[in-house]
Amino acid sequence: MAISSTLFMNAQHNIPKSIEKEALKALSFYPELTKNKIEFRFRKNIKKSTMQARPTFQSLFKKRRNRTYVVLISETFKISDKEFTTKDIPSDILIGWIGHELGHIMDYQNRSKINLISFGLKYLFSERFIVEAERAADTYAVAQGMEKYILGTKNFILNHSDIATSYKNRIKKYYLSPEEIMVLVEERSR
Ligand SMILES: [Zn+2]
Repeated sequence: MAISSTLFMNAQHNIPKSIEKEALKALSFYPELTKNKIEFRFRKNIKKSTMQARPTFQSLFKKRRNRTYVVLISETFKISDKEFTTKDIPSDILIGWIGHELGHIMDYQNRSKINLISFGLKYLFSERFIVEAERAADTYAVAQGMEKYILGTKNFILNHSDIATSYKNRIKKYYLSPEEIMVLVEERSR
């Protein structure tokens, strides 16, 4: 407990207690992000997704190393007719989910202010761009060594009988497939 709260202080991230363990585990794969403040916030509902990472508005006027980010987390995971709450999601699956969001933040860190603004607009209006952005986040997470968790989260969704087919199709459409992840892992270790 003492160790995790020390990490929490050093990193100056803001994490709700209920997901602190999972968030810190995911963050441990991203030493590059320790200087950026990341705030994890629960929301009642997030349109079409379970989590969402974005830079704060003020960050657009700051140097990259001083940017702060927010990861919004839906209180309930409405991924089927049946509602999941965060408590129902196994720890490793949550780590994979958060790891994917941190992949988005790595992607944002490599983008300029102008690029981030156009990113936000394209994400709203272009399906093709959503696919590109989501696959980039998965790719970053795998590059940081999180493949076990990213695969776990994907398999959890794809194999869960309670999860609606429409949601499974969305996952297949926008994200890397387990096979593509294995290719990335092979390329990385070469
Ligand atoms: Zn995403």
